Amino acid sequence: MGIRTSFYIDYPMFLSAAPCDNVSVSGDMYSLVHSNRIKAVIDRKIEYIDATNFRIFACRNCLTHLTSTNEIISRNYRCESGKAFLMNNITNIIEDLSNCELRSMITGEYLVCDIYCHFCRTTLGWKYLKADSKDQAFKEGKFIIDLKKITLTT
Ligand SMILES: [Zn+2]
Repeated sequence: MGIRTSFYIDYPMFLSAAPCDNVSVSGDMYSLVHSNRIKAVIDRKIEYIDATNFRIFACRNCLTHLTSTNEIISRNYRCESGKAFLMNNITNIIEDLSNCELRSMITGEYLVCDIYCHFCRTTLGWKYLKADSKDQAFKEGKFIIDLKKITLTT
């Protein structure tokens, strides 16, 4: 029995509308924190976190936290057993890099490796390591998760 080190996914923190206004800064530093570039980053972060839809996905077998609704890139994917999501990030998994393989899919060939729940070793889906065509390169480093293997939790 190995050591179980799980990361638990927290409800997202919210930035206030003007997070820099309470900080007493002067000169160049002040113009930096109030520059449009910084503001754009903050605005994007607020947009990215969707409070009304934030739910945690856990392994259906052992309820280890895996990912959240904020990490969904697309709901429009399929795997052998049915519906799947393309996810930006997943925690508490094992990437089986020693068994990576080329797989032919509808959109082309990909170098992928399967991913497992790190606690119960259930196969959850796969990770795209390399895409054959350039227009599919956005999937590289992203994950497919089988909806039959996960459950929503709080
Ligand atoms: Zn599990």
